[in-house]
Amino acid sequence: MTILVTGGAGFIGSNFLHQAVNCFSEKIICVDNLSYASDYEQIKDLPIEFCNANIIDQHYCDYIFKKYKPKTIFHFAAESHVDNSIKDCSKFIDTNVHGTVNLLNLSVKYDIERFHHISTDEVYGSLNYEDPPFTETTPYDPQNPYSASKASSDHFVATYHNTYGLPTIITNCSNNYGPRQNKEKLIPKIISNVLQNKEIPIYGKGENIRDWIFVDDHCRAIIDLYHYGTVGEKYNIGGECELRNIDLVRRIINLMNGDEKLIKFVDDRPGHDLRYAMDNSKIKNAVDFYPQYDIKTGLRKTISWYENN
Ligand code: NAD
Repeated sequence: MTILVTGGAGFIGSNFLHQAVNCFSEKIICVDNLSYASDYEQIKDLPIEFCNANIIDQHYCDYIFKKYKPKTIFHFAAESHVDNSIKDCSKFIDTNVHGTVNLLNLSVKYDIERFHHISTDEVYGSLNYEDPPFTETTPYDPQNPYSASKASSDHFVATYHNTYGLPTIITNCSNNYGPRQNKEKLIPKIISNVLQNKEIPIYGKGENIRDWIFVDDHCRAIIDLYHYGTVGEKYNIGGECELRNIDLVRRIINLMNGDEKLIKFVDDRPGHDLRYAMDNSKIKNAVDFYPQYDIKTGLRKTISWYENN
């Protein structure tokens, strides 16, 4: 019996592997094609087996399933950067949709006992300031090509549970931050630019609101749901920390004793979602999940990791 983790060389997947090796006795197999967003160095010393494979490769993935006989899959692999999806969404359709469907087909074929699909709050679209947070029954309304591809993959996962009885769980999480994230993303970019005394570009006026969760809290929620979650269900995972981008940037600059004059407002991202917010009631009731890291502690840990790496 083995556990297969896709995308384990990426940001959340690698943090998940660091937790998982201490939580599971089963052998862990990581499948990742080492795209630009990955960092193999971060997982190379872990007691796992690594397969450099593309999840859209039907034959090679079939070989991996046959060889390692996984019973559980944690599916993190994805193209994950909204800006890239706006420039060209073809890879997003390939990996996020076709890659996921390939893994679903193999999971049916090889009688997988749990397929945990990692998804995002962005599938629900954008909230106004006064709207209540997203719940698991909020209709999907993706607003950019990345979130459309993730919404599509969520629908396929749900239909494979309904149609083929595949034991699935879907989680939709808010914005993660923490060690090991690629510098293209907001928080690593801010930290890196403060360290180099470079301008910090902020979309629009920085008024967009995101809910932030420390990556270790997200990974712990996934492991809790492995033990106590209900098959066929979907769960929101939020950090209970809504912040305007501009306030987040100022917090980081102040924690690093940087200069707020580095902030530079740039043209807004096309179709930029105004606000995301998550209602954690369901996962609280199901597995007693609460985010353990407040933003200050999480940011301090994150900044310190980037300073040392
Ligand atoms: P990431 O871009 O840092 O890592 C993705 C990993 O997947 C990389 O290691 C990459 O090499 C791998 N990968 C990409 N395409 C692949 C392919 N075709 N075959 C094999 N491996 C492939 O992304 P992340 O931020 O760690 O996100 C992981 C998952 O969590 C994604 O599904 C994402 O949608 C979801 N998610 C992310 C956030 C966030 O804030 N980062 C929030 C909610 C949900």
